[in-house]
Amino acid sequence: MVPPTLVDYDSACRHWSWETERASLAGLPLGRGLNIAHEAVDRHVTDGHGDRLAFVFLSRSAARRAITYSQLAALSNRVAGALVRLGVQPGDRVFTLMDRRLELYITALGTLKAGATYSALFSSFGPEPIRARLEIGKARVLVTTPSLYFRKVKSIRDALPRLEQVILVTDPVSGEPHNELPDHALSFASIIEAAPESFEIPPTDPQSPALLHFTSGTTGTPKGALHVHEAAVVHRATGHLALDLRPEDVYWCTADPGWVTGISYGLVAPLIVGATAIVDREDFEAERWYDILSSEAVNVWYTAPTAIRMLRRSGPGPAGKRHFPQLRHIASVGEPLDPESVRWGIETFGLPVHDTWWQTETGGIMIANFRATDNVPGSMGRPFPGIEAAVVRRRGRSLEIVDASEQAGELALRSGWPSMFRTYVGAPSRYRECFADGWYLSGDLVRRDENGCYWFVGRVDDAIQSAGHLVGPFEVERVMMEHPAVADVVAFGKPDPIAYEIVAACVVLKTGYEAVDTVRLELLAHGRRRLGPAVAPREITFLPELPKTPSGKTLRRLLRHSDS
Ligand code: ATP
Ligand code: MG
Repeated sequence: MVPPTLVDYDSACRHWSWETERASLAGLPLGRGLNIAHEAVDRHVTDGHGDRLAFVFLSRSAARRAITYSQLAALSNRVAGALVRLGVQPGDRVFTLMDRRLELYITALGTLKAGATYSALFSSFGPEPIRARLEIGKARVLVTTPSLYFRKVKSIRDALPRLEQVILVTDPVSGEPHNELPDHALSFASIIEAAPESFEIPPTDPQSPALLHFTSGTTGTPKGALHVHEAAVVHRATGHLALDLRPEDVYWCTADPGWVTGISYGLVAPLIVGATAIVDREDFEAERWYDILSSEAVNVWYTAPTAIRMLRRSGPGPAGKRHFPQLRHIASVGEPLDPESVRWGIETFGLPVHDTWWQTETGGIMIANFRATDNVPGSMGRPFPGIEAAVVRRRGRSLEIVDASEQAGELALRSGWPSMFRTYVGAPSRYRECFADGWYLSGDLVRRDENGCYWFVGRVDDAIQSAGHLVGPFEVERVMMEHPAVADVVAFGKPDPIAYEIVAACVVLKTGYEAVDTVRLELLAHGRRRLGPAVAPREITFLPELPKTPSGKTLRRLLRHSDS
């Protein structure tokens, strides 16, 4: 068995130094700074690993396509050269709007090489979310496909005067014509063909902007968090030690690059480590996912609780037909991971699912269950070495650290880790409000147990206040998920004239269960038995599906304000 990359957690914490971590990156030649794309791609070519596979792209309509680090270096060089020829300067922002295809990844890397800032738009967005993000981000260049352009961008183009250049990736599969480009758009294929295969990355200050990620918009308007090249230090360290990634690994991150996970851990971290990243262009489908894990011999798999719940809903059948001898580590992020899902990993793959916690703002994994430490089902794990976390309460402009374990408070991180966001673009005061007394305040409520493990309680804004008690929605959801009838659940506070709020829940039932009163009564009784009457849901509504953000997070605020 391959030993874990992080063997002694306590010792790693004691001896951690971000300076040492920084020194393990190559840096640009001749001390010209630090550039994420150099660390992710060119460095491996220089080190003699150009023939290793960087990416494997899978899709139903096209053949499996494998790209080596050398090919990726040449293609991203061409994009960088083409962007520079178009006048793109350091500090300019280049956006993509497309599905998970090679052109997205080479545009991201080419943009970073050119010293500009890259931002990915989720391809399922409609025109308004696209317009809002291009405007907030002051996009200068957008790379998209003709069909997405016509359906989603053409109607908003006039509202975006700063958007100078649209570049279209024509799709040979759908046979979209090369030479009939609309509205002065350029052809991606033509401009990169005209650019040379080599490109010298200009000197890059590690503190200069690199990536702009928008938050999921779970609690309100999405915020654009700006990250710098130095974030690579955290991407490498967490990829290696929290995800247990090594250069020889096949790795699959299921997140779309339209969200921070799909870039930090779908592109940057695996490539910096030198692994092979699988990219599936198709939507979720249980049979297909089990097939990929098995036939691509995935070693490390990073996914999300929503996906795990969907796999669980599909029953044990599809997994049982396949074998996964290569799979070594499974991790998840994005939402609370219930203990049943951790155990499902053991039943299905012989491996627990390791929860990790982080945010768009933190740029990388901050709290994790590590392969070598006890995986405590239901807990998010312990802070990554070098990360100082605390449970705090806001007291005006200062903070009170909550000492006693078992007491809930807001999760705070001592500021200064390399992948910390540097601003919210266009909203600097909102950025400043995230900090107090040298700490970054996450907006999440947590508890810390006597072993130093953190437990997610809920978002600060989602905490339910019922008859003088503070109830964390996830504590309710975790218990309701134990019931065999429950496929998905969300708990929230419903306004009440006497108790201020009562705990209410919406439940999605597993196939085979009917939305009838006997099931409802059974679930209410299960809640009361396991949680006690003060915390148990008083009302349960059955829904065919829960409302989700495009990135798969439950939109609690919609349920709170509905009449259900
Ligand atoms: P917005 O900030 O726009 O409301 P968002 O917070 O959902 O959206 P992201 O940055 O994508 O945007 O998500 C980070 C949040 O996701 C965390 O603050 C936390 O609430 C939740 N989250 C992430 N990982 C976990 C986890 N392991 N357990 C529980 N919650 C998690
Ligand atoms: Mg957030």
